Amino acid sequence: MPVVCRVLLSGLQNHSPRRGAMDSIATPATIVAPPELAGDRSGEDAPDLLPVRMLNEFVYCPRLFHLMYVEGRWEDNVYTIEGKDAHRRVDKLDHVLPDPETADVKESAKEPPDTDGGGDERPTITRSVTLGSTRLGIVARLDLVSTAGDEAVPVDTKRGRVPNNPERSWEPERVQLMAQGLLLREHGYRCDHGVLYYEGSKTRVDVPFTPELEARTLRYIEAARTAARSTVLPDPLEDSPKCSGCSLNAICLPDETLALRHVPPDPTTTGHPPIRRLYPARDEALPLYVQEQGAMVGKRGEMLVIEKAGEELARVRLRDVSQLVLCGRVGITAAAIHLLCEAAVPIVHLSAGHWFYGITHGITLRNAFDRAAQFRAAADPGRVLEFARAIIAAKGANQRTLLNRNAQPKPAGAIERMATFLRKLEHASSVDEILGLEGNLASLYFQNFSAMLRPRDFDAEWAFQERNRRPPRDPVNALLSFGYALLTKECTVALLAEGLDPWWGLFHQPRHGRPALALDLMEEFRPLIVDSAVITAVNTGMVTAGDFLRSGAACVLTASGRKAFLKAYEARLNQLVTHPVFDYRCSWRQVIRLQARLLSRWLRGDVPVYLGITTR
Ligand code: SF4
Repeated sequence: MPVVCRVLLSGLQNHSPRRGAMDSIATPATIVAPPELAGDRSGEDAPDLLPVRMLNEFVYCPRLFHLMYVEGRWEDNVYTIEGKDAHRRVDKLDHVLPDPETADVKESAKEPPDTDGGGDERPTITRSVTLGSTRLGIVARLDLVSTAGDEAVPVDTKRGRVPNNPERSWEPERVQLMAQGLLLREHGYRCDHGVLYYEGSKTRVDVPFTPELEARTLRYIEAARTAARSTVLPDPLEDSPKCSGCSLNAICLPDETLALRHVPPDPTTTGHPPIRRLYPARDEALPLYVQEQGAMVGKRGEMLVIEKAGEELARVRLRDVSQLVLCGRVGITAAAIHLLCEAAVPIVHLSAGHWFYGITHGITLRNAFDRAAQFRAAADPGRVLEFARAIIAAKGANQRTLLNRNAQPKPAGAIERMATFLRKLEHASSVDEILGLEGNLASLYFQNFSAMLRPRDFDAEWAFQERNRRPPRDPVNALLSFGYALLTKECTVALLAEGLDPWWGLFHQPRHGRPALALDLMEEFRPLIVDSAVITAVNTGMVTAGDFLRSGAACVLTASGRKAFLKAYEARLNQLVTHPVFDYRCSWRQVIRLQARLLSRWLRGDVPVYLGITTR
């Protein structure tokens, strides 16, 4: 049955609260809208109401409030999923409160009396009530309201057990409940207490609405409404136990942010306190590549279903998919596109040869400020120079490390000269100088690249001499080009997830069709991810001479060769490493996403330094 939700809005006319409440229920001041639109600041005429559940987040942590409410970020954890379940059980019905002056109950769901049989008037239970007030500037969907005559008691359901503290509740919950009480008063009810119901321990806790709690709540509302207009990300909490239970800890990066603020910009030095790994070591959701030509991706409930000619090829849970990659002639239904956009899972479009065409993604992020910061930084020569130095120094250092580790025989002269260029990079005073040094480093690196390869069945004529592309003219260049295209896609997805514009670079100049910021971000990862995957694929025989085709001067991978390399590339991304700066274990894929996140924080000034990733 379709559910119609109502927002009962008070404060639209000049009136006393009790009078206003009558107006809001009985007159056209009542509006019909989905509750999630309440407080949506995009509607020009919509009143700017703060959802009361966001007030709870603000009291918990202002940074969490900013990430969720201002930037539109969301990530479930075990607590939020339990919380949603608890609310789902009480959200089954949608009702309008009885009129407090006439206590007309005919519209409301009735439940058996919840009294001790002492002869009191039987209360009416109304569930899932949405109330708003332009005077208070807030809107809320109340789980459950118990009314008797003109007296109302809000009951809010919480996951977990009753807290073991003197108040038997947490401050954010009390403030949220008090705000609900204020809304009920605004709508004409007397309301002097509320109830928190803890599902885990099946306990009701009575919360008196004292003048002190009311005053604090009004102050919080004022502060939260001011914070909602701010573009500045508040500071993270320091060493707070709240962060462990926070669903956005992997997005917020509290310890990493504080460490980058305290540490000198040299990744080889230590000095920051140990960093809690709130970031998951490995993403359980992984990219889903669909390479079967003629296949169609559809949906059944929360599953993606891949079919071809009426036959089901695979079925994957949406929550296991971090990005859907469609390679070549693969279709997708409108329903599947809508599902993926809503779940913020990007759809990546590649050619059958895995060249990157573009991305479809939802519009869940409110990212205007991130992009504005990005464009400002790109127009600031000082910041461009600082960033260019960081990413090219990291790339050069990683190239040198790779050679040092894998080349046989070791090209000692080249390694020494690379060290000299890296020292010069530290003092480079212009982007042109950095470009020159980057060229010198790349030239030494690729001149010696073949010393790292020990192909099992490669003909001598296929030996790698130099980097070439468009088209690549030998197998190793074909693998490198293919790998860099995949990495560009990975970095583009990571930047989009942060709300940045992948097409507007700092070091790489924007050019039509070139994801310049993705190219910037991937510099430090080229040797670490792609070059390393190429060396593994060649040296272990994952790709062999039979995986390439020659067409004129060009050398291309066959379909089976692409699949084989893709395995090596994905294995490298999923490999667990110790994060070079933060010292905890995570996959390379996570390191890339972390860098994209830290880049966006550096652009906005939340962290003072962008540290390129290097391995020792
Ligand atoms: S991780 Fe900690 S600092 Fe960051 S938003 Fe959550 S509670 Fe706030």
